[in-house]
Amino acid sequence: MSDCIFCKIVKGEIPSTKIFENETVIGFKDLRPQAKIHQLFIHKSHTKDINDLAKNDPKELSDVFNAIRTYTMNEGLEKGGFRVVTNLGPNAGQTVFHTHFHVLAGEPLGHFGS
Ligand code: IMP
Repeated sequence: MSDCIFCKIVKGEIPSTKIFENETVIGFKDLRPQAKIHQLFIHKSHTKDINDLAKNDPKELSDVFNAIRTYTMNEGLEKGGFRVVTNLGPNAGQTVFHTHFHVLAGEPLGHFGS
C-alpha cells in the first residue's frame, strides 16, 4: 500500500534499523522502545491486522513466527524470556495498520494477565 509506513520500510523508502530479514519477513527496531529490547516483525505483504493476515494467507503467520523463532534463538533471548504482542484496532492501541508483532525482551517485563 502506497501510504503505509511499514510498506515504505519494506521498500527502503524510509529508514529503519533492521535486525532481521529473509524473503518474506523483516524485523526492525521500534522507534519508541517500551522495553530494553523492542523489535517489530512484519510480513512484507501488506495486511491491516492479525485477522486480515490469517484470512488472507495463514502461511504468513508461520513465516513471521519462524522469523521470530530464528531471531530470538540467535540472540539468546529464550534464556531471559520474551513477549510477543500484536494489537488489533484502536481500542487495543493499534496505530500502524500493517500487521506487526512486537517482540519485547531484555529485562523483567512484569506479569501480564490475571
Ligand atoms: P501499534 O501501536 O501496536 O500499532 O505499534 C506501532 C509501533 O510502531 C509503535 O510501537 C511505534 O513506536 C512504532 N513505529 C511507528 N513508526 C515507526 C517507524 O518508522 N519505525 C519504527 N517503529 C515505528
